[in-house]
Amino acid sequence: QAKTTGRGRYEFFDVTLRERMQRRLRLEQELREAVRLNVLWVAYQPVVALPGGETVGVEALLRWEQPHLGVVSPVEFIPLAEESDLISAIGIQTLRTTTVEMAWQRQLHGVDFDLAVNLSARQLDDPDLLVTVQHALHSAKLPPSALCLEITESALMRDPLLAAKKLDSLRSAGVRVAIDDFGTGYASLSQLLRLPVDILKIDQSFVADLGESPDATGIVSGIIAMAHAVGLTVVAEGVENERQRDVLSRLGCDQAQGHFFGRPGSPADIFYQSGQK
Ligand code: C2E
Ligand code: MG
Ligand code: MG
Ligand code: MG
Repeated sequence: QAKTTGRGRYEFFDVTLRERMQRRLRLEQELREAVRLNVLWVAYQPVVALPGGETVGVEALLRWEQPHLGVVSPVEFIPLAEESDLISAIGIQTLRTTTVEMAWQRQLHGVDFDLAVNLSARQLDDPDLLVTVQHALHSAKLPPSALCLEITESALMRDPLLAAKKLDSLRSAGVRVAIDDFGTGYASLSQLLRLPVDILKIDQSFVADLGESPDATGIVSGIIAMAHAVGLTVVAEGVENERQRDVLSRLGCDQAQGHFFGRPGSPADIFYQSGQK
């Protein structure tokens, strides 16, 4: 009897595992093809200043729509790209495309928005990273000060010493660096505050309960105070309503992004609207 149950369970497990592996394999093949055909595209989400709400920059967010599989989230395909050799091509392409698009939109609309681009852990390890970044900026004629590279807390903490060296070299080239998804890793605050960065992005999980839970407000208030004490600019992610915006403004948070201010969209959406204000 136990054997039947055991086998039943095993088969159930086996099917889902096989399905997952098949999806992975299929996704990796399709992603390779998508990179080859250059069909990944970039959506831009506005980053606004608080309390005024005026747009000061945009974050580039990769998008992939596969004809048969539909929209695949970067949460799924970026890790896949990291495990294969695809991340380097994707990373270079994203830097090139976004710097060119940004330089063009800045000129077209007469705005000086900053550009934030996400980097994955593997890109940080790449010895050519600095050259790639400098080359992209140079050919796009975008000043380094307009670019901010976002690296997640967990990616930075894999090897904090090496990360610190990398960040130093990027910053001496005039590029700014942000800790993304702050608060989601296991790093101690003192470890993180010692990293050579310019910006701290508070993860949306902390922003979600703002104004509803006194704990959440206390935690965010503490993060902002400590970040400011060491001279960092604080950006809140995932702001979805007025209440969260008001609490963040009251706590002195410098900048914010989220659906309340604008969803990720085409450059025309973001730059045209903001350029009009
Ligand atoms: P992230 O860098 O922390 O980006 C913020 C994510 O929050 C984005 O998800 C964005 O669409 C979403 N978001 C923005 N406002 C709101 C809001 O008000 N509410 C909620 N619930 N979500 C909001 P997205 O575009 O799915 O990207 C997910 C993650 O994928 C990014 O997190 C980033 O880590 C990664 N990613 C995206 N593009 C790239 C890229 O070009 N390179 C690398 N290495 N990673 C990327
Ligand atoms: Mg980011
Ligand atoms: Mg984030
Ligand atoms: Mg995130």
